[in-house]
Amino acid sequence: MNKTMNTGRTLLATILALFAAPAMAEEAAPEMPRWSLAIHGGAGTLDKTAMTPERRAEYEAALQAALDAGARVLAEGGSAIDAVKAAVIIMEDSPLFNAGKGAVFTWEGTNELDASIMDGRDRSAGAVAGVKTVKNPILLADTVRTQSEHVMLMGAGAEAFAVEKGFAVTPPEYFATPARREALERMKAKQLSALDVDHKFGTVGAVALDRQGNLAAATSTGGMTGKRWGRVGDAPIIGAGTYADNRSCAVSATGWGEYFIRVGVAHEICARLRARQEVLDVLAAGMETDPVVKTVEAQYFADAVMADVKQLGGDGGVILVTPEGYAIFSFNTSGMYRGRATSAGVNEVAIFGGEGKPSATPDH
Ligand code: ASP
Repeated sequence: MNKTMNTGRTLLATILALFAAPAMAEEAAPEMPRWSLAIHGGAGTLDKTAMTPERRAEYEAALQAALDAGARVLAEGGSAIDAVKAAVIIMEDSPLFNAGKGAVFTWEGTNELDASIMDGRDRSAGAVAGVKTVKNPILLADTVRTQSEHVMLMGAGAEAFAVEKGFAVTPPEYFATPARREALERMKAKQLSALDVDHKFGTVGAVALDRQGNLAAATSTGGMTGKRWGRVGDAPIIGAGTYADNRSCAVSATGWGEYFIRVGVAHEICARLRARQEVLDVLAAGMETDPVVKTVEAQYFADAVMADVKQLGGDGGVILVTPEGYAIFSFNTSGMYRGRATSAGVNEVAIFGGEGKPSATPDH
């Protein structure tokens, strides 16, 4: 609470200083957008002592591979939308994360996958929920975005659409892993909650800014262990788990989906950033905002929305990238599997809180 208030005061002071001292146009010329990427592989109550060096190395290697795949697309001048897909596919294919292979089990012992993707250029969006036979749900979500007039398809209908669009039918056994099955069995035997057996949310996501100044966000998940009755979380809900708008930011979330839906987390963060920009455009026309201030503001808004989630009783985290290329993390759990890379040479993966550079540090 104090931290939030302090951040708020600093923010206010900085904004007031901006109004008081008009920036010099020559010095404040906006930098050409460069590329930036952030990824996550879930957040949660991560126990440092339970993490063996081998296990840690495995996660770090998987995160690094995803980061490298997305960064390569951006460094070569590719689009943000292609970069987020490239990063997410790697994590969907890894059994370490709760997306694609390695997805958690439903109460009935199946794996039901959700994914969504959004292009900040035109706010085109695609999502799928409850699919069981598509190896990379993020690619199906993107096909809904580009080859249908809809935003969200679910269940058998989404699978029929996939077949029509040429997706191979993946046998459901492909997604099953012994660790996830054991978690379901433990949950049933001991009447535990999903949080008790999983300790963390393993949803994966990526957000990116490309050299053309476009933003994109993507999220993919198996949901929560033991989900029933066709439960769908925030990951495939545009505005809750995923949002991208070139005017504000790109966000991907992981956490207790019901709370993220109720807060509308991803859209809420973007909306606050856009409202702030609109106010400055009107009240401070012609003045450039210091990029550092923009980062502090983005971090502040992300933290404030996550505090709202916490206040309702939920937990988890978000990654976001701003139009200036700042890659920011915010989570109210002890850790979040995460990574970020930028054109300025930032390249890091981290797991526990406090690791890596502070989120608000300018990257270039
Ligand atoms: N947000 C996901 C859900 O509620 C879970 C996760 O982040 O792992 O379905």
